[in-house]
Amino acid sequence: FWQHFNDEMRARFNEVAYNAWFKNTKPISYDKNTRELKILVQNPIAKGYWEKNLSSQLIQSAYGYAGIELLPVFQISEDGDSPERLVTPQPQHDIRIQREKKEQAEFTKDLKLNEKYTFNNFVQGEGNKLAAGAALAVADSPGSFYNPLFIFGGVGLGKTHLMQAIGHQMLVERPNAKVVYIQSETFVNDFINSIKNKTQNQFREKYRTCDLLLVDDIQFFAKKEGIQEEFFHTFETLYNDQKQIVMTSDRLPTEIPDLSERLVSRFTWGLQVEITPPDLETRIAILRRKAEAEGLTIDDDTLDYIASQVDTNIRELEGALVKVQAYATIEKADIDVNLAREALVDLKLVQKNRGLQISKIQEVVANYFQTSTAELRGKKRVRQIVVPRQIAMFLSRELTDASLPKIGQEFGGKDHTTVMHACDKINKQMKTDADIKTAVFDLKQILE
Ligand code: ADP
Ligand code: MG
Repeated sequence: FWQHFNDEMRARFNEVAYNAWFKNTKPISYDKNTRELKILVQNPIAKGYWEKNLSSQLIQSAYGYAGIELLPVFQISEDGDSPERLVTPQPQHDIRIQREKKEQAEFTKDLKLNEKYTFNNFVQGEGNKLAAGAALAVADSPGSFYNPLFIFGGVGLGKTHLMQAIGHQMLVERPNAKVVYIQSETFVNDFINSIKNKTQNQFREKYRTCDLLLVDDIQFFAKKEGIQEEFFHTFETLYNDQKQIVMTSDRLPTEIPDLSERLVSRFTWGLQVEITPPDLETRIAILRRKAEAEGLTIDDDTLDYIASQVDTNIRELEGALVKVQAYATIEKADIDVNLAREALVDLKLVQKNRGLQISKIQEVVANYFQTSTAELRGKKRVRQIVVPRQIAMFLSRELTDASLPKIGQEFGGKDHTTVMHACDKINKQMKTDADIKTAVFDLKQILE
């Protein structure tokens, strides 16, 4: 992605400017939790320029191009030197050897639970309360009622969070319990490595002797017969020892392609519970919780607005909050509804991919009033043009996700206050002027 962004910018800047801002600028780390992308820049001037002029483009480009949410933070390289050496890759073979070493050690190293994924941090609401209830019951008396617990549902709805919360809870009550959390792919890789390295005994030891086995995204076992066979035996051993097994999946066991009959049937011995997308109220509650955790003060209207923009999943909801936060930092402004709207403009565009263009609106409006798009974008202040122009601006605001400045720009580079004024005016006139009301109504029908 960084390369892509550089190419994009190279095309936009001339060579001197490009070199000034990009040549000795390099990303050095990305924190998946905070979404901070640490970028090394050459000097304070470059830092200032990036913060002021390039940050928001970087954020948008990362999101638009790669679906990555990031919050750029800038660090000035210590000696003002080229940062090159800090990121110079090691020779290929070194990397390979290291990776091999790492892989060998992989399955002896236990995977950590994310410390944030606790019951305390889990907001209950419609859509997840059954799953949350079951998870609590399992944490309370593992290996008894709901064994195995099978949590399924769409991406970003809290399956991993809930599953790990069980692990945390169990460790609170029994600090010496052996809790194993794995992504199902890790299980697959561990298994393959154990065959390669002849360490199958260690592999089995690890998985068959735990008190709580958490297997995340088990749909990846689809069509993998050997793995399923191995997992079957793991399952049997744990189950017979009355150890708790929890699994998550994006679908029901019966819907996982080529999952062996006996696994399907065993998975139904316990409880299968679905998480469905959160309703608005729950989304607001989750956002409020996250904002508090981040130390942000956000008023109810704004929380409501953000929550209403993202109705798909909770990960995206969090992403939206990060975006608003980043935008506020860059703009050095407080978070309110307007700021949130601006910050989320392209998120909405990406999400809904609604294709209505402002130019299309101009075309339709010009046609309707028998004028031209050039006039709409122009400066003439006669009534026959001003009214259609204001209506076109109003419709652009209503029907697209464009921000006020963006609309102004599309209307021949007008100020955003002009657009705001136009929108207010049409809004008022629709209540008093029947002609305007009809026109707006007709135009909306044509456009929609
Ligand atoms: P899944 O595993 O279903 O794809 P995750 O468990 O990774 O989803 O959840 C995505 C993000 O949303 C995580 O950061 C998680 O903490 C958060 N999240 C999900 N559900 C809730 C909830 N009910 N309350 C608070 N945060 C939640
Ligand atoms: Mg998950």
